[in-house]
Amino acid sequence: MRVLAGGIETETNTFSPMPTGLADFEVIRAADLDESEEMGGFGGPFNVFRRRCEERGWEYIFSLYAFAQPAGTTVRAAYESLRDELLQALEAALPVDIVLLPLHGAMVAQGYDDCETDIVGRVRQIVGPNVKIGVELDLHCDVTAELIDDADAVVIFKEYPHTDINERAEELFSIIADAAEGKVKPTMALYDPRMIGLFLTPYEPMRSFVDAMIAREAAPGVLSLSLAHCFPWADVPTCGAQMLAVTDDDPTLAAYLAQEFGQRFFALRHALDPKSLSLDEALDKALTIEARPVVVADQADNAGGGAPSDSTFVLRALLERGVREAALGMIWDPIAVKVAMSAGEGAALNLRLGGKMGPMSGDPLDLNVTVTGIIPDMRQYWTQSDGELAIPCGDSVALHCQGIDIIVNSDRGQVLSPTVFSNFGIDPASKRLLVVKSTQHFYAGFAPIAAEIIYMAGPGAIPPRFTEIPYQRVDLRKYPWLDDPFG
Ligand SMILES: [Zn+2]
Repeated sequence: MRVLAGGIETETNTFSPMPTGLADFEVIRAADLDESEEMGGFGGPFNVFRRRCEERGWEYIFSLYAFAQPAGTTVRAAYESLRDELLQALEAALPVDIVLLPLHGAMVAQGYDDCETDIVGRVRQIVGPNVKIGVELDLHCDVTAELIDDADAVVIFKEYPHTDINERAEELFSIIADAAEGKVKPTMALYDPRMIGLFLTPYEPMRSFVDAMIAREAAPGVLSLSLAHCFPWADVPTCGAQMLAVTDDDPTLAAYLAQEFGQRFFALRHALDPKSLSLDEALDKALTIEARPVVVADQADNAGGGAPSDSTFVLRALLERGVREAALGMIWDPIAVKVAMSAGEGAALNLRLGGKMGPMSGDPLDLNVTVTGIIPDMRQYWTQSDGELAIPCGDSVALHCQGIDIIVNSDRGQVLSPTVFSNFGIDPASKRLLVVKSTQHFYAGFAPIAAEIIYMAGPGAIPPRFTEIPYQRVDLRKYPWLDDPFG
């Protein structure tokens, strides 16, 4: 068998003030990789696909993988050039038996509301009806009927935080390999539970819902069950959750399972309402807790959802309240990083910090800080079910100001791990308060050390208050706009 793999991934927040251009994509091409070189970051599925092909003696062809940190709508020319490069690599590799596409599922470009449906449709046109196409998506995706028509199998992450990226790649490979060998014939169905929201899988009732999907996958004829959670900060007509079932040559069972699990999910809607507190409520609560550290998630300024990650609202409030023994990360401010690196470790200086990207970031803070650490090209290590992923943070510095350690970096990205602090010799477990700019991905690394976790919906680009999102193009006959959209 000849297996080609490639992908273009970003998550598009159409409300974000920053467009996504070609320079925002890290592009890895076949020529950039050695035979045995492992891919980092979200590229883990490519390692899985290559290894599984090698085990079977199949020919593995890597085409291209492009990843951009979530931000605003992708510039049309950037999307088209990456897409066409991927398609040209496919055409050059023909004939192939299998195409595997790790995509995101919530990528929007100018002129393309749904880049993944566009990519998969064009791949199908090129390869014809008999080649098997497998697609892996982030659960913050929208899935369309066109996409499942053009793919043979779609498998979506089950966990939020996303700790199962490689497990799902293994599952997708097995289904598609079996399909190519004629052992199974995947059939797919979708069910729309008419919901928009953010659903955290470590907590009930989501934990039991995910476990029930996994348990049912062991039933005869069931190949895979996935819940597409949707990505709420995208003003596109397809925005909304979808339940997806993949069965072996049984479209009736697929439709039945999609509906059964979709209706189960819908029945949980009230229990799934976000519990996030306002900025003042969150800090009031955090400061009454004796045990340490209390972790406060600044969900609204999560770079992983397309926010700038340079908002100053929480830091300003901590300084005004005189909170000490606190640490906060990461403020994206390449200029401040450059100034602090030039000043050097141990230097005290006046620095204008954060608040640069627009009104959603608040005003900059003018602070007298001490540079306590400098790490060029820093990495953080994100806990996964099968190990750790090294995630680049760019040049990073630790600043100290009035009892608060502040991590500032130059490659925009959310906090995924306590190593953001411990890399600098700051012991996160000893702090009274840790503020992390992240919606939920921080959880896997911080839950083991946190005395308590508080989710905060402060001001910012992606607050988890869905009815306040200024949609123009989304059909809002959904929960939470209607309590019972089916009624
Ligand atoms: Zn996601």
